[in-house]
Amino acid sequence: MTANGVRLDALAGAIGYKPSPTSVDFKDPSAESLFGSNVFGLALMKAHLPKDVFRSVKRTIDGGVPLDPKVADVVASAMKNWALAKGATHYAHVFYPLTGMTAEKHDSFLSPDGEGGALTEFSGKTLVQGEPDASSFPNGGIRTTFEARGYTAWDVTSPAYLFETVTGATLCIPTAFVSWTGEALDLKTPVLRSMQALNTHAQRVLKLFGHQNPAVVVSYAGAEQEYFLIDRHFFYARPDLVAAGRTLFGARPPKGQEFEDHYFGAIPERILAFMVEVERELFKLGIPAKTRHNEVAPGQFELAPMFESSNVATDHQQLVMVTMKRVAERFDLVCLLHEKPFAGVNGSGKHVNFSFGNATQGNLLDPGETPHDNAQFLVFCAAVVRGVHKYGDLLRASVASASNDHRLGANEAPPAIMSVFLGEQLADVFEQIRAGGAKSSKSKGTLEVGVDTLPKLPKDPGDRNRTSPFAFTGNRFEFRAAGSGQSIAGPVFVINTMVAESLDFVASKLEAAVASGKALNAAVADILATIVNEHSAVVFNGNGYSHEWHAEAEKRGLPNAKTTVDSLGAFQRKEVIDLFDKYKVLSPRELHSRYEIYFEHYCKSVNVEAKLVQWMAKTLISPSVFRYLKELADTSASVKAAGLPFDSAVIGEIANLTTTLTTRIKALDKALEHSGSDGVVKEAAYFCGSVLPVMLSIREVSDTLEGLIANDLWPLPTYQEMLFVK
Ligand code: ADP
Ligand code: MG
Repeated sequence: MTANGVRLDALAGAIGYKPSPTSVDFKDPSAESLFGSNVFGLALMKAHLPKDVFRSVKRTIDGGVPLDPKVADVVASAMKNWALAKGATHYAHVFYPLTGMTAEKHDSFLSPDGEGGALTEFSGKTLVQGEPDASSFPNGGIRTTFEARGYTAWDVTSPAYLFETVTGATLCIPTAFVSWTGEALDLKTPVLRSMQALNTHAQRVLKLFGHQNPAVVVSYAGAEQEYFLIDRHFFYARPDLVAAGRTLFGARPPKGQEFEDHYFGAIPERILAFMVEVERELFKLGIPAKTRHNEVAPGQFELAPMFESSNVATDHQQLVMVTMKRVAERFDLVCLLHEKPFAGVNGSGKHVNFSFGNATQGNLLDPGETPHDNAQFLVFCAAVVRGVHKYGDLLRASVASASNDHRLGANEAPPAIMSVFLGEQLADVFEQIRAGGAKSSKSKGTLEVGVDTLPKLPKDPGDRNRTSPFAFTGNRFEFRAAGSGQSIAGPVFVINTMVAESLDFVASKLEAAVASGKALNAAVADILATIVNEHSAVVFNGNGYSHEWHAEAEKRGLPNAKTTVDSLGAFQRKEVIDLFDKYKVLSPRELHSRYEIYFEHYCKSVNVEAKLVQWMAKTLISPSVFRYLKELADTSASVKAAGLPFDSAVIGEIANLTTTLTTRIKALDKALEHSGSDGVVKEAAYFCGSVLPVMLSIREVSDTLEGLIANDLWPLPTYQEMLFVK
C-alpha cells in the first residue's frame, strides 16, 4: 500500500526548516532612521518643493482645498527625482477595487527619446490621473464593457511611497478609482467622501460649543490585525488552503486551544524573526507598527499599528496585509488572512478602533476633565450610539462576506447583533440622563451642562467586554466584527457616515433651540435625553455570547443577520439609501452596484469552495479510504486464514462511513447542477441554504474517517501538523 507522498514530503519539508543566515544588520540603519524612508511625505515635500508649492499642497491635505493643477507638475518632478535616486524604474497608481484587493498598474518612467536612447518622464497629469482598463473589475452594472474606461485620481491626503522588492523599486501613488461617469468603483472614494461629511457636521457641533474656527475634524482608525502562520509546505499540500484560504476538511487535533497556553506566550524564534522583518518593512513605508503578540489559537498572532487618520490607516492596513504575505515567504511560511482557516479554533478578526478629532482639540471621544468638556464628549459619544442603533444592520452588512460568516456568531467573535458596550460608569451616566430626562423638570434634577450634576467621567475605561461588537474603550470605540482579510474601508465609511448623520441631527436641534432663545445647557440636556431615551436599546453591557442575549436583543428589536445573505438587504433599506445619498457618500446607483457585487462575490466564493470539496473528496479522500479498506480486508483474510480471530467490526464501520461519504458527494454533485439563472440574490440564498450544508455534511464524515484510517494513508496535512509544527 503506498503511503501518501505529498503529505509526508510536506511534513519532512516543514520539520527540516533551517533559518537562512540573514544579512540584515538590524542596528544600521536604526528603526528611527528607517521610519518613513520610503515615503514621499510632508518632510520630503517641504525639503524638495518651492515654498508656495508646498503651501498649496499642504492646504489640500489639511484643508481639503482642491489641488491646483499648476502645482501638480512641480510635485511630480520632485517625486520622480526622489524615486529615481532611490532606484525606482516604474510608477504605479494603486487603487482599491471592489474585489477587496489592492490593484496596481505599473508604467516605466522611461520613454524613447527618438535618437535611440531613452529619457525619464513623469508629468503632473500622470501623477494626478491614470486610466487603467477597468473592464475586468466588478462594477455591479455601473458600466457595460464597451464603456470600460476607469480613472484613477491621486489622493493627496495619502502619501506616495516606494515599494521595494529584492530586485527593484516602484513609486506607488494611492488613488481613488472611478468610472468615466465619475461613479465610485472602489473603496477609497466613499471613505474620502464620508470624511468630508463627518467634518462638516462635527464642525457645526463644535461651533455650538463655542469653538470659533475649529480645525478640520477627521476620523481616526487603528486596526488590530489577527493572522495565522503555517509552514509553506503544508499550505501547498492543501488545495483548499491554496484556492479558498481555509481548510474544508480536517479533524480537530487532540490538543486544540483549550489550555489557552498560546495566548501571549513566548513567540517562537522563526515567528519572531518574521515579525521583526515585517515591522522593518512597515517602518520604511511609514506605517507605525506598534504591538505584536501570540493570539489565542495555536499558530495565531496579532499585529497592531498606532492609529492614524482613517483614510491613511485604511491604505496602510492594505499594505500591512500585503507586506505580511510577502515577508512570510522569506521564512518558508504562509500568512493566512482568512477569517476562519481552521474549524474548532478561533478565527481571525480585525478590530477597528475608531475615534474622531482635530489638530487643536484632539480626540473628541476623550472624556474631558470638566463638566463642560464632559457635556461635549457626551454629545459626540451619544451621537455614535444613536448611529449604531439606527444603522446597526448596515454596520453588520459592512463586514459581511462568505468567509466572515464562519466567525460572526460563533462563540469567539462578537455576535452578529450590533450592540454597544459602554462600560459600567458611562452606562450609569446614560441611565441618569434617561431618568432625569423622564422627570422632565429642571428643578427635579435634570442634567445641567456646566453644573456638576454629572459624575466625573472615568479616564480608565474600567472593565473590558470582549463579547461586544462595538465597545467603548475609554477614548474610542472598538468595532470587533470586521474580518481579518477585509479592507477596513467598509466599516470606516459606514461609521463615518452614520456619525455624520447623527451629528447633523444633533447640530440642527441645538441650532434651532439656541435660535429660539433657549440656553445651550438646556438644549444639550434635552438632546441627550432624547437620544438616550430613543436609543438605549442598543446599549448592552452583558455577555454577547449568551443565549439570553439573543432572546433579549430580539425583544429590543435589534437585527440579528446571521449570514451574509440575510444581512446584505441592509444596502437596500430606504433609510440606508437616503443616508448615503444625503451625505453624498454613495449615490443610490453606486450603492446598488455594491449590493449586487457583494452577492455575486458570495456566490463565487461558496461555489469555489463547493467545487473544492467535491474534487478533494473524490480524488484525495475517497481513494485513501478505499485503499485502507482493501488493506483491512486483506489483513482480515490473512489473519483468518492463519486460523486466528479478527474483529471485522472496524471494517464494517469504515465501509459504512465510506458509503455515506459517496452518497453525500453525489448529493453535492446534484446540488451544484443548479442553473443559477434567477439572479445573484436568489442564487446566494441557494448557496447558503442548500450547498453549504451539504459541504459540511461531507466534511463531517471525512473528519470521522480521518480518525479511523491509517495515518500514513491520510492525504492531507492534519490540523495537528499545520498548527503545531513551526
Ligand atoms: P487591545 O488589544 O487592548 O484592544 P491594542 O494595543 O492591541 O489594544 O490595540 C489598540 C489599537 O487602538 C491600536 O491600534 C491603537 O493605535 C488604537 N487606538 C488607540 N487610541 C485610539 C484612538 N483615539 N482612535 C483610534 N484608534 C486608537
Ligand atoms: Mg489587541
